[in-house]
Amino acid sequence: MKNFNFFGDLMEKVLSFDVDGTLVTPLFADTIWLESIPSLVAQKYCISLEEAKSMIYKDYENIGPNRLEWYDINYWIEKYELKVNPKEFVESHSYLVQLYPEVLEVLETLKDKFNLIIISNSARIFLDVTTRNIRKYFKHIFSTVSDFNRIKDSNVYTQICKRLSISPLQMIHVGDSYELDYLSAIRSGISAYYVDRNGRMYGQYVIRSLRELLFKIL
Ligand SMILES: [Mg+2]
Repeated sequence: MKNFNFFGDLMEKVLSFDVDGTLVTPLFADTIWLESIPSLVAQKYCISLEEAKSMIYKDYENIGPNRLEWYDINYWIEKYELKVNPKEFVESHSYLVQLYPEVLEVLETLKDKFNLIIISNSARIFLDVTTRNIRKYFKHIFSTVSDFNRIKDSNVYTQICKRLSISPLQMIHVGDSYELDYLSAIRSGISAYYVDRNGRMYGQYVIRSLRELLFKIL
C-alpha cells in the first residue's frame, strides 16, 4: 500500500468484489445446496428426491440467510448425519464453477489500477474452489463467515477497512445483493455498486454487468 493520502487521485483505492452472483454464476453453489445435499439425504433416509428437497428447503428457510448456519456446510452435514468429507464433497463440484463471461477481461483491466480484494459471505471451503482460477488478481480474500464469524453487515466492512489500514473512503465494493453488498457497504461509508444482471433496478449505482463498472470508475 502507498502512503495514505486524503487528496483525490493520490489516494490508493481498494476495489472489493462479492463472489457468488457477481464474479461466479450461482450454478456451483445452487447445485451443492439445492441438488446434491438433497440427493445425499434422499439416499440416506430412503426417501424420494422430491421429499428430501421439500424437507431440506424448509429447513433452509427456517434458518435463513441472516444466520451463520445457513453458510456452514458442516452444520448441514451433521444435521442430516451425512457420511461425507465436507472438503471433498465441495471439491467434487469444482467443475461447475463458471465465471461470468466478462470477468477475466474486467479483472485484467482493473488489476493495475486498484488493489483488488474479495469480500464474500461464502465459507472459506467454498471460496477456495470458486476463486481458484482468479486468485492471482486479489490481494486479500475475506470470507466474512469464516474470518469474522458474521454475515456481511456494515460492521464487517468497517472491520475489514481497519484490517487493511484504510479509510472507508478508499474502498469501492461491488456485489449482487442489494442488502448485503450495497446497503451494508454504504452504511459503513464505503462506495458501492449494485450488480443487477436482471435489469430490475435503475440508478447511478446500479450496473448490469461488470463491464459497466469500468465506465463508472475509470
Ligand atoms: Mg452474491
